[in-house]
Amino acid sequence: MNEKLKEIYENMGISENVLKLSKDVELSLKERFEKIDKVTEYNQMKVLSAMQKNKLSEAHFAPTTGYGYNDIGRETLEKVYADIFHTEAALVRPQITCGTHALYLALSSILRPGDELISPVGKPYDTMEEIIGIRKSTGSLAEYGVSYKQVELLEDGSFDYDAIRNAISEKTKMMTIQRSKGYLTRPTFSVKQIGELISFIKEINPNIICMVDNCYGEFVDIIEPSDVGADMVVGSLIKNPGGGLAPIGGYICGTAECVNKAYYRLTAPGLGSEVGATLGVNKDFFQGLFQAPQVVNGALKGAIFAANLYESLGYECTPNATEDRHDIIQAITFHDPEKVVAFCEGIQYAAPVDSYVTPTPWAMPGYDCDVIMAAGAFISGASIELSADAPMHEPYTVYFQGGLSYDHARFGIMRSLSRMVEKGLVKL
Ligand SMILES: *Cc1c(COP(=O)(O)O)cnc(C)c1O
Repeated sequence: MNEKLKEIYENMGISENVLKLSKDVELSLKERFEKIDKVTEYNQMKVLSAMQKNKLSEAHFAPTTGYGYNDIGRETLEKVYADIFHTEAALVRPQITCGTHALYLALSSILRPGDELISPVGKPYDTMEEIIGIRKSTGSLAEYGVSYKQVELLEDGSFDYDAIRNAISEKTKMMTIQRSKGYLTRPTFSVKQIGELISFIKEINPNIICMVDNCYGEFVDIIEPSDVGADMVVGSLIKNPGGGLAPIGGYICGTAECVNKAYYRLTAPGLGSEVGATLGVNKDFFQGLFQAPQVVNGALKGAIFAANLYESLGYECTPNATEDRHDIIQAITFHDPEKVVAFCEGIQYAAPVDSYVTPTPWAMPGYDCDVIMAAGAFISGASIELSADAPMHEPYTVYFQGGLSYDHARFGIMRSLSRMVEKGLVKL
């Protein structure tokens, strides 16, 4: 390694043996990284061709205010998203405050009193519990007379097709299918697996609307759930598709009928897609989307690097060092609260923003134990940027994700290990 670079790393808290181990790990990953580069190349061209096809121009970056009638930037952005996801329509708006909001919007735009929603993939993401009313909550779907059933996954993490068939009834209107494991230990589903599940459901009743929570999955594969039969694909713009530049927002891509219902639910009956000023965020939405395949590339490589580094030291990683990836999340299990804290401190010290801050475990609303979070992001809470968090209980698992470039993600991981070495928790 170049002496100048070594000096920078040393000044930034990376010890020589961590550097050496990292180099060795990285050398072993060449072929895997080439495979990821191929996916990125495809997705970069998919995004670029959608922008060219829709004649993206500088005029589309102009801000609108007030009602936002005739916002051609907004309309073009939605066409570009629809082309990328190969759907009839798309709703992409800064008025969607986060991923949870986008999911609630999608569900509440389709479901009516008396309808039933099923999750055929077990327990959904935490915040979905309040949306659905699994946990009693003001404004939940349960309050509006929507019932809910959940079919658990089989022991090996696969779909329980018999139980899904038995769960489906006359009332079943919609399925919610979460692609990423989120903060669970089950595997993340590949798009292909989701396609098989949707085909099975549609064979029983083609009118059941299949919605996929696509958070953390965008651009990890060359196909998206909408390519395999999903009626609605939903995600957050402060994760993968925002490319680290979108300051807010969410998207729903899908059939014209479903997306249209979502427009009327987001604004008001009679208004639909016609209103919604974009206040100047369009350029960042477009530019972030353009960067997104590269950003996902870096985050994926960082996650694979982390799994290989920490697995070589004997820690359990999910996904493991060699598995294929279907999202950008990496879980590392330490069985030790001090290591969890040191790991998160290292991630924080590696951040471009707030790197001088030390994170500590804290009681957070909505959690039943203390939680530690490391995030030094340009966009507050953006988990496409280098970030880590962990609930402070056995098995003491840290969830790590993001990094706007591979170099930064790798540095974060090296810094986390150095921090553990500094504190005497790991010997190299
Ligand atoms: C991030 C995420 C969400 C939504 O989270 P927000 O914090 O509201 O943006 C939903 N589902 C999954 C699987 C997620 O990863």
